[in-house]
Amino acid sequence: MKLQAVRGFKDWLPEDFAKYEYLIELAKNILKTYNYKEIKIPILEKTELFVRSIGEFTDIVQKETYTFQDRNKEFLTLRPEATAGICRMIIERGLFINPKPLKFFTIGPMFRHERPQKGRLREFFQINVELFSPLNPHIEAELIFLAMEILKAPFSFQEKGKNIYTLELNSLGCPKCRIKYKEDLLKFLEKNREKLCETCKERIIKNPLRVLDCKNEVCKEVVSKSPVITEYLCKDCKDHLISLKEILDFIDIKYVENPRLVRGLDYYVRTIFEIKAKGLGAQDTVAAGGRYDYLLEELGGPYLPAIGFAIGLERWAISIFGDEEKRGILDSKNFLEKLNPDLFIILLGKELLKRGVKLATFLRKKGVRCEITYEEKSLKAQLKNADKLSAKYSLILGEEELKKRSAILRDMRKSIQESIDFKDWEDLSVKVFEKIKNEI
Ligand code: ATP
Ligand code: MG
Repeated sequence: MKLQAVRGFKDWLPEDFAKYEYLIELAKNILKTYNYKEIKIPILEKTELFVRSIGEFTDIVQKETYTFQDRNKEFLTLRPEATAGICRMIIERGLFINPKPLKFFTIGPMFRHERPQKGRLREFFQINVELFSPLNPHIEAELIFLAMEILKAPFSFQEKGKNIYTLELNSLGCPKCRIKYKEDLLKFLEKNREKLCETCKERIIKNPLRVLDCKNEVCKEVVSKSPVITEYLCKDCKDHLISLKEILDFIDIKYVENPRLVRGLDYYVRTIFEIKAKGLGAQDTVAAGGRYDYLLEELGGPYLPAIGFAIGLERWAISIFGDEEKRGILDSKNFLEKLNPDLFIILLGKELLKRGVKLATFLRKKGVRCEITYEEKSLKAQLKNADKLSAKYSLILGEEELKKRSAILRDMRKSIQESIDFKDWEDLSVKVFEKIKNEI
């Protein structure tokens, strides 16, 4: 039987890694200037954590988790998202007593058993950003600004692409204002019950808000006439939303209000948002987030309001670099070039091969990306090899050259070469580095 990866689990080849690493580095650098601290939480948690936080009757918990019993018969789940784990960490490690705001980010894989398609995987990576601090619309506006800043960072030197992201905003209200809304929504859904898909029929009783999130076209049509939460907000929630919008206007963040926007997780309250990218097709939400003021308390910690968001790394990358079907805004060629060796070292003769490691080490210590095959081949064959590997330069040394203390540096792209006289290996590495440093 042919061995294959698990469906929806993707390999990252070097060219994928180059793009993802570039995006992750950009995000990390921005997050650090906002004083977010990087953490790592486990990939595996007790199933109960996700049932209690995400909600028993959400799609994620009911249909999408990878849950199993381990050898001790304990129920464990591969994390489908990071917020629950971060809250567990804060409670377990007593971090809630630390000065506020608490600001964390974590980058890693999430697992959801969904139907794989473009932009939808079963193992996908998220950049998660979470902030714990007393309720304040300024903090929220800044967090949304940060999400946008990260997403747009790859375009910082060019105008094109700056408008591909749109922010959608809504308030889900607090548990108080949701009571009346849920009642009216329920009435509306009961009236339209027969038109809804089978899953939504079940959702009516278990979790009526979820019907608003159904991707089924008929359900979408029904729901487009449903009551909206924004008309049920209590004074506090309304004022909060108004302040947030004022600040967003002031800091020049454009948004579209979508009163039917809901999220697939139960813990969200008040502000929620999604950032969509043009040209991504059906899976166009690149980042999503919102407030979860009561989650920490519900999991056994103190009351501490919080807000966060997650960027889907793969979707973010598609929105920038495109994919097999569509060219992106940025050309990934530059990234692929970075993977090529700066220097291919060609040593001719057994005696010289032995010294290869020493020479390469000096150059590598200077940051030169060196390749060396330690093969006893002719100069012609070796140069062909250097070409195939797209090396920028080759350094050629034979017994004769060694005696004369003179090596040949060949520019592979221009097909020109020059001699470099040297005293010892270190001297040679310094001289080679000086020659090529502007192009590596
Ligand atoms: P969707 O509506 O697309 O299913 P979601 O509401 O389930 O998304 P969140 O839980 O809010 O998504 O996750 C935040 C981000 O993580 C999404 O905006 C998306 O970029 C990414 N994401 C979520 N699920 C997947 C997946 N199965 N494959 C790839 N990326 C995903
Ligand atoms: Mg989903």
